[in-house]
Amino acid sequence: MSLSEQEILKLFKQTEALLEGHFLLTSGRHSNRYFQCAKVLQYTDFNTQICEKIAAHFRNSEIDTVIAPALGGIIVGQEVARQLNKKFIFAEREQTALTLRRGFSLAENEKVLVCEDVVTTGGSVFEVIEIVKSFGAKIVGVGYIVDRSNGKVNFGFPQFSTLNVDAESFLPDECELCNQGIPLVKPGSRKTTK
Ligand SMILES: [Zn+2]
Repeated sequence: MSLSEQEILKLFKQTEALLEGHFLLTSGRHSNRYFQCAKVLQYTDFNTQICEKIAAHFRNSEIDTVIAPALGGIIVGQEVARQLNKKFIFAEREQTALTLRRGFSLAENEKVLVCEDVVTTGGSVFEVIEIVKSFGAKIVGVGYIVDRSNGKVNFGFPQFSTLNVDAESFLPDECELCNQGIPLVKPGSRKTTK
């Protein structure tokens, strides 16, 4: 049985993968919510169940290979590829740009599904799309767990997310949470307070 979006949201809260407060995102923006997907995906059965939604969505698409940007995307891409019984490769950052290393490559016209954990601006996914195009391979679609762009990001290919969440985010200079004097937390360095 496939999870509903509400059930996925519940898993995020239950595992503290969804935090509320004042957070510095990797995009540089500030937000009242932070998704640490790894917190929910550490439970491999939850990862299986959530990725099942992505795999099911693209099951009837012709796919040769699943690709994801390191690091968070790897957990998603590997699981989706496993369920679809396809090859899985990943792009990783060398200096500042994502690139294929480890002898990974794509053939011309190879059909590729891009996977990611969280999309805010979609930066890493757009970079992966450029890598795929540079080999002359074809993008089948983009599947990811959380869309926190409020539906603003359009990759130009069929895209699917398992959870859409309205989250406020601000440019640092215009942040309402900063104005309220709420301490900014860099996720990952956060001490758990109960
Ligand atoms: Zn702020």
